[in-house]
Amino acid sequence: MAREDYEIVIGLEVHAELSTKTKIFCSCPTEFGADPNTHTCPICMAMPGTLPVLNEKVVEYAVKAGLATNCEISRDSKNDRKNYFYPDLPKSYQISQFDKPLCEHGYIEIELENGEKKKIRLTRIHIEEDAGKLNHNEFGGGSLVDLNRAGVPLIEIVSEPDIRSAKEAEAYLKKLKSILEYIEVSDCKMQEGSLRADVNVSVRKKGATEFGTRTEMKNMNSFRSIVRAIEYEADRQIDVIEEGGTIEQETLRWDDVSGKTFSMRDKEDAQDYRYFPDPDLVAIRLSEEYIENIKNNLPELPESRRARYIQEFGLSEKDSNLLTASKHLSNLFEEAQGICNNAKAVANWLLSDVSRILNEKELEPDQIPFTAEQLAKMITLIDKGTISSAIGKKVIEELFENPKDPEEIIKEKGWIQISDEGAIKEVVMKILEANPQSIADFKAGKDKALGFLVGQAMKETKGKANPQMLNKMFLEELKK
Ligand code: ADP
Ligand code: ZN
Ligand code: MG
Repeated sequence: MAREDYEIVIGLEVHAELSTKTKIFCSCPTEFGADPNTHTCPICMAMPGTLPVLNEKVVEYAVKAGLATNCEISRDSKNDRKNYFYPDLPKSYQISQFDKPLCEHGYIEIELENGEKKKIRLTRIHIEEDAGKLNHNEFGGGSLVDLNRAGVPLIEIVSEPDIRSAKEAEAYLKKLKSILEYIEVSDCKMQEGSLRADVNVSVRKKGATEFGTRTEMKNMNSFRSIVRAIEYEADRQIDVIEEGGTIEQETLRWDDVSGKTFSMRDKEDAQDYRYFPDPDLVAIRLSEEYIENIKNNLPELPESRRARYIQEFGLSEKDSNLLTASKHLSNLFEEAQGICNNAKAVANWLLSDVSRILNEKELEPDQIPFTAEQLAKMITLIDKGTISSAIGKKVIEELFENPKDPEEIIKEKGWIQISDEGAIKEVVMKILEANPQSIADFKAGKDKALGFLVGQAMKETKGKANPQMLNKMFLEELKK
């Protein structure tokens, strides 16, 4: 059978570090990047006799995440011990949630490439503590443990196996990331490990009702690697089945350099975690009032902003999606349009030149160096005819390098648009003289010649001539 006869099935378990100031069971700071073992205390170092106390903010953030992803919030919930030994887990168990997670039965809606919408169901969202980190010594052998991350609060968001392609997995992760950013429960910095996914993949013949056996790739933290890993792993499984083999349920490691998965010889499901309720912690009981209060204070979510942009500003569905995918971009859009009153222009600049430069520089929207006011001012300068949009492009480049008042930029650089009739006429005459063939072409009915002449005049003035005036004056001369 061919590849097209198979269907890929994916389920994701996403861990997001919560942006609470302190850890989940002690008052150590959660900040990233400190010297090893400086954010530790007897509790998160697991000294005998210490007692954990649940950080209430963790519950609040998890409930927020649950409400923002259409989950049911459990009125009764608890913490359980998940027992396993690993050198970065000094207690030899992780405090997590087993049979009574805080949130269940939610969904996230994603957009497919053909514009259709699809709901990906969430099985659950639970709270748990992060483990420490092992630093493998490159020189003397051995490993050193850093417990700064031990006890940093996490939510784990588990999806149903509803995802059917690498592209859908990417759309799901991006949507989830944007929701978590909007409600400000996680900074979602993937490069710092604040958002990471365990990726479960299986394949089955199209039309089959049973799922195939899955493999799991743990702790992936880049969209690109996840897409590549899913595609590679699905292909590998199809090859095995086509050759008459069977898929082993196992944990794999994705290697970004070779672009392959490797067996870690560790069958997650076979492990017995001996879950039991943590006797040191009281049960979590939430009142209706508590949940209502969080619900009423949720900020506007991407979905609602998207709908509002289409309605209020007449933006296209695609542009609204792109703008609202990042809270920062969306905020910048709203602020700038509030100043210059030209929503379409703001959206266009953000989604064309600004996005292109972000891509080239490999920056995230929250690293845009200029302000909404500066962007708005640049657009106003175009609207007033002080500069052309060709110069606008140069101003945007400059705003990335050396952000300041666009009016100052164009004065300094001498980029103010030439709208003086005499000056324009001079350029028009010069260009006509140099291009007799274009004049003949135009008279022979080739309208394209006009565009060429205007282009030459723009070149001559380094983009500063007013294009409407050029057009008009060329036409007048050509029709003489
Ligand atoms: P665990 O990994 O802790 O054993 P589960 O068995 O509940 O937990 O599954 C974890 C993840 O694997 C979920 O996101 C689920 O959607 C996904 N999953 C389960 N079965 C399959 C399958 N056959 N193919 C792909 N993903 C699957
Ligand atoms: Zn501590
Ligand atoms: Mg798993």
